[in-house]
Formats: sequence, C-alpha cells, structure tokens
Amino acid sequence: MASNQDKKSGLMSHAIARLYKQRLEEVERELLLAQQPEPPTVDDAAPLSESEEENTTDASSGEDTDVEDIQVEVEMPDHPYGDLSCEDGLRMWALQTGQTHRSLNLLLGHLRHHFPQTKLPRDARTLMNTPASRAPETALTPIAGGQLWYQGVEKCLLSYFRDCQPTQEGFELNIFVDGLPLYKSSRTQFWPILMQAHNVPHTPVMTVAIFCGESNPLFVKEFLQPFVDEMNRLYVTGLTIKSRSYWVEARAIIADAPARAFIKGVKSHNAYSACMKCTIVGELDGHRMYFRYAEQCPLASKP
Ligand SMILES: [Zn+2]
Repeated sequence: MASNQDKKSGLMSHAIARLYKQRLEEVERELLLAQQPEPPTVDDAAPLSESEEENTTDASSGEDTDVEDIQVEVEMPDHPYGDLSCEDGLRMWALQTGQTHRSLNLLLGHLRHHFPQTKLPRDARTLMNTPASRAPETALTPIAGGQLWYQGVEKCLLSYFRDCQPTQEGFELNIFVDGLPLYKSSRTQFWPILMQAHNVPHTPVMTVAIFCGESNPLFVKEFLQPFVDEMNRLYVTGLTIKSRSYWVEARAIIADAPARAFIKGVKSHNAYSACMKCTIVGELDGHRMYFRYAEQCPLASKP
C-alpha cells in the first residue's frame, strides 16, 4: 500500500513538473516574442535563427557559444519584463528561474522592508496565485483497489456559482461514470464521477470525484457511497447558494456498458447472464457470447 501511494504521489509530482515545465516554456516564448520587435544593436547574433542554423552546420563548439550569446541577450536587457508591474515581473522571474517558496518569501520580506510603497504580498503563495489547497491527504481516501478523491456535488456548484446567482429553482443533474486507462503501459486507471446541470445551459461538466487505482474500485459501495450520501442529503435539505435555497435532483446516470454493469453491481456485458432485463443465459462459441433471442425469457426481477 505504501509503495502504491509512493507511486501515486510520484505520478502527481510528474504531472505537476510537466505543467510547470509547460508554463516555463510559455513564459520564455512570450519573453522572446516581446523582445523581437526591438532588435538590439546589430550584433553578430542579431538574426537569431539564421546564425543558429549556420552554426549547427559548423562545429559543435560554435553552437555552444551561440547558445550562450542568446542567453546573454535574453538576460541582459535593461527592462527584461517590459511594462509588467513590479509584482507581475517578479512572478515571471520566479517562474522562469524556478524559485522555491522559501527563497521567494525571503526576497519578498527583504523587498517589503526596503520598498514598503510597492505593496508586495507577504507570502510566495499569494504572489504565485497558488490555489489554497487543503492537505491532499484529507481529500484522498484509500479504498479497496486504490484511492478516492471526493470533491462533492455541493462544492462543485458553490464554486461555480461563487460570483453569480443561478436563476433556476434547482438543479437537474446528469451524472457520468466511466473507467479509463491512464497509460498504455500500466494498469493505472481513473474512475471519475462527473456531473452537469441539465437545466442550466452552458454550465461545464464538473468533477465530483475521481478514483485512481491499479484496477477498478473493488467494491462499488465504497466508490459510490460518499456520492450517494451527499445526493440523498441534498435531495432532502436542498442546496443554499448566497442564502437562497435550491433543490437538487439526479436526472440521469450516463455510463457505457462496462461502467453501467459495474455501478449496478451486475454481470458484465459479456457474461453468460448479461441481460439486465430478462433471465436469458448466453452460450459461448469460441470467444463469442451469443444469446438465442427466439425463445421467450421470463423478465429479470427488479433489484
Ligand atoms: Zn434479455
């Protein structure tokens, strides 16, 4: 279990590192673009791309010096962050150079001391707009087969409607459940619970919960229980947004055949007793399951 968790936190940090790198590349691209309009004094390195190409065809040593030239050029201008405000420039610099929160906090403290008029934030998280997060451990619940991150219907709706008041009387929710592999090379899979308010046009699909594990959740009850409990609670008490009360109802649960069989706790679509409506039993022909629909089958009893 511990190794499982390690692996997962490893995955998370990979994803974060990837996002971080992407952002960094964007920032650098923006910077390069911002600097292009004012070509500096016509040096040997002025037409960047051309000289680079020429040099790569030469020797590798030539390429190195050229790369250095470019970097020097990027770092040297008097106003590296153009017209950005002091705070935005600082944020850009922190992203570009990969500053830690600790070093940023020290710098912010120093700057605030010497330049109180700049009104810089006290904390690196404020400067970098780091979303306030609860400790991830509290949001992740280990369940059989993996971990469940449960955000909740109420939280999704409250977060989406934090700046505006919905005009509807309530919310008719479409619920989606599906299992999807994360990688081709591993068995890690996601089982998200998504929802969308059917009667409120233009609302996005929101993520209620995500299960992540090496298999599907072993017990459907563990997977669905928090969601079922919350929906039951909301059905009874309603949801309050800015002191106005709204009813909440599930309109439909939308899932493909395997996910549907899983959340209903019945046989999978390729099993002998796969039909959810009648008691027909299939026959196996090689790898193929088929059902003789000619005969009349008694209907399945309702669960
Ligand atoms: Zn049937």
